[in-house]
Amino acid sequence: MLEKKVETFNMNRVIEDFEEMSRNADQVQIQTLKDILLKNQSAIYLKNFGINKNTTDPEAFKALVPLVTDFELEPYIQRMVDGDTSPILTGRPVPAISLSSGTSQGRPKFIPFTDKLMENTLQLFRTAFAFRNREFPIDDNGRALQFIFSSKQYTSTGGVPVGTATTNVYRNPNFKSGMKSIQSPCCSPDEVIFSPDVHQALYCHLLSGILFRDQVQYVFASFAHGLVHAFRTFEQVWEEIVTDIKEGVLTSRITVPSVRSAMSKLLRPNPELAETIRAKCLSLSNWYGLIPALFPNAKYVYGIMTGSMEPYVKKLRHYAGELPLVSHDYGSSEGWIAANVTPRLSPEEATFAVVPNLGYFEFLPVSETEETEEEPVGLTEVKIGQEYEVVITNYAGLYRYKLGDVVKIIGFYNKTPQLKFICRRNLILSINIDKNTERDLQLSVESAARRLSQEKIEVIDFSSHVDVTTEPGHYVIFWEVSGETEEDVLQDCCNCLDKGFIDAGYVSSRKCETIGALELRVVERGTFGKVQEHFLGLGSSAGQFKMPRCVKPSNAKVLKILCENVVSRFFSTAFD
Ligand code: AMP
Repeated sequence: MLEKKVETFNMNRVIEDFEEMSRNADQVQIQTLKDILLKNQSAIYLKNFGINKNTTDPEAFKALVPLVTDFELEPYIQRMVDGDTSPILTGRPVPAISLSSGTSQGRPKFIPFTDKLMENTLQLFRTAFAFRNREFPIDDNGRALQFIFSSKQYTSTGGVPVGTATTNVYRNPNFKSGMKSIQSPCCSPDEVIFSPDVHQALYCHLLSGILFRDQVQYVFASFAHGLVHAFRTFEQVWEEIVTDIKEGVLTSRITVPSVRSAMSKLLRPNPELAETIRAKCLSLSNWYGLIPALFPNAKYVYGIMTGSMEPYVKKLRHYAGELPLVSHDYGSSEGWIAANVTPRLSPEEATFAVVPNLGYFEFLPVSETEETEEEPVGLTEVKIGQEYEVVITNYAGLYRYKLGDVVKIIGFYNKTPQLKFICRRNLILSINIDKNTERDLQLSVESAARRLSQEKIEVIDFSSHVDVTTEPGHYVIFWEVSGETEEDVLQDCCNCLDKGFIDAGYVSSRKCETIGALELRVVERGTFGKVQEHFLGLGSSAGQFKMPRCVKPSNAKVLKILCENVVSRFFSTAFD
């Protein structure tokens, strides 16, 4: 069976191609930049900087084109969204625009999407699949339980299709054919993936997975958050699912006609399967090992588990029991960057090898002080152990674009760097001289959550906010927790959170009281679900959603949801 998949797909060939490309990473980079500039030489943006058909080498390109962020490119992209078909950023008009999750700025961000980005996506998926399948071969006749949700594409007033990057990928005519040889068919019918109601889609994904339980080879969601959310939901709806299977009739909660009709075709009364699932669920202790219990032939659980997804790994491991957790690759709406070619590494150790023909990559050293900005270095010039911000030049109109992600170089795969995702670069918590990133917040929450876990309670989700309406200003941490506990436990947690920020600027400001006592606000169960609903309403896709780890005052709606649902508040006494 496996041989058949390998034959159509040719795993060894894909691995060999990557080996060769990574051995020549420097040459491939030069060629990729040349190709990008050639294809886009008529772009107004490039012409304005004096790029012409003779500018092909990296040095000339870097001397002429400045480093930019999404802020500088926004007016150009907006013109494209508004329907201006002149060659603004790309040689040819783009067929679609992606909405990045954009939760950090509180609003979605527009990014050009082109057929070449689609091609790159398929190339990266093929590379990652080859390495993954070499380690964890899957059965050719199997299926995958994939929690994927394609949100709606809409047409901008200028006539351009707009959707999340994943939606633009799933809806692209080349996606299905391109993925055929490397992807096990989904358990769920397409109508579920394209359902306008994500809650109904999730229920149906779970139900479909169970109907095909013996065939399920792996369980996937783009982000670990999606996997955890799916199995938390299962805890709540499993009895309803069991009833549907027993009676062969779909629950009345599924009301979208296309989804109802597609799902009803899969169902027939199966009391035996219903009983098996009931017995399995009742036999588990606190749902430990739920995934292998439901899907006995699954080989692994797959999704992005690094960076801001780390807080969900513990819970995911609980559901996965002994099944390996395999980290999905590294990329963004702006384009894919690196593949996981070492899939056996745990999420905590996962690294990604940059695929050198996906774009022209530069790396901006992240200095401790951030006072002087150093010059970016090329892909093969990075140093092991150093942290950098990723800078992308791609085929879709982004030139020397600072992605905002900080990565650390862990080693090299042949000549191409293997990196670890560290965090988003933006400081999220800062009042005066203190500087705390998303990663610092995560570490602080982890340390306080350890105190809570002594009471067998977990932090379900969290976010933060800088409150400068008080004098002095102070950090506010919002927590949703899985159960009730004594006030003094939460007071301890609050102190732990405060002590968990070890940045010298913060500690000294706390000591001299130029930053006030950290405040922990516990919110009602389900509050973070409401925040997610809010972002889905703005156009984020359920699969691409990332919880905003800091809520800025400009994001008044989210702040309101959090503040309205506070059930208790604690102020740190850690520096008293
Ligand atoms: P989006 O703009 O919604 O496509 O999200 C892209 C962002 O998700 C990236 O810029 C990263 O910050 C984050 N991301 C993507 N892949 C990974 C990964 N493998 N590990 C951690 N974070 C990731």
